[in-house]
Amino acid sequence: MEEKGAENGVAAMAACYQGFDPAAYLQTNYTPPLADLERKDSTVPWKLACLHRAFTEGDVSGELLVDIGSGPTLYQVMSGCEVFNKVLLTDFLEVNRQELRSWLQDEGGCSLDWTPYLQHVCKLEGRLPSAWTEKAARLRQVIVDIVPIDVHRPQPLALDVLPAAGADCLVSSYCLESVSPDLAAFTRALGNIGRLLWPHGHLLLIGTLGMSYYLGAPGVKIPTVPLNEAQVCASLKESGYTLIRLEVYTVPQDIKLFDDASAVFFVKAMKE
Ligand code: SAM
Repeated sequence: MEEKGAENGVAAMAACYQGFDPAAYLQTNYTPPLADLERKDSTVPWKLACLHRAFTEGDVSGELLVDIGSGPTLYQVMSGCEVFNKVLLTDFLEVNRQELRSWLQDEGGCSLDWTPYLQHVCKLEGRLPSAWTEKAARLRQVIVDIVPIDVHRPQPLALDVLPAAGADCLVSSYCLESVSPDLAAFTRALGNIGRLLWPHGHLLLIGTLGMSYYLGAPGVKIPTVPLNEAQVCASLKESGYTLIRLEVYTVPQDIKLFDDASAVFFVKAMKE
């Protein structure tokens, strides 16, 4: 009975995602005013700074980085691509995988110009903004594939996608709480993706706190699970991760436009 309820919740989320529009999502969430690279208190520079710090501390590197629920975005792997030889992008929806392929193939037709993001990350790395072309080339070189994923399955990726040892590191941004009908599903999803990671591999997780919905397209309200810090910590522990660091950013009132999140968290954790 309980199992059936969980399945129904997950199926309802999958149905909501049929209305997701990559171009509208990018326009809403990754251009000003919500994503203002010039504004220090905007969400995106905070996320980029957290990722930059995590990927340059020295303990996170290796062969394979897997991005869980990439959506149509690339910012979350712009620091990691410098310390991993291979980056695997994943998403549930073909429209998002297609958006990422458009950028990868560099033949035009992308819904967003990622140049300002690449320039911003170059600056964080102490490079000239003009080095963005090298970073774009590096990213295109290390992305090995863009594949389907379902974090609600005990085995989220097709069996032959990862090497037997698993990934060295997972990064995931705004995915798990945005696709889970409740806290139990969020915790299960954390456990499911953990199976892709080798023991002592790292998880870098970005998510929202207190968010009950966001817009996947104009008029397409996607319900999400509102989390608090204590729940995130408890779910990580229950799913077999050791928390290294949790940072919280409070969303300024004037940029709360398209969802009701109160804050954003960044987690650095290690699989036990
Ligand atoms: N990572 C991007 C970002 O930082 O903006 C996109 C996040 S978007 C809020 C949530 C993403 O989760 C969407 O791209 C959606 O297609 C994907 N998704 C939906 N259901 C999923 C599932 N069951 N497993 C994995 N990803 C899923």
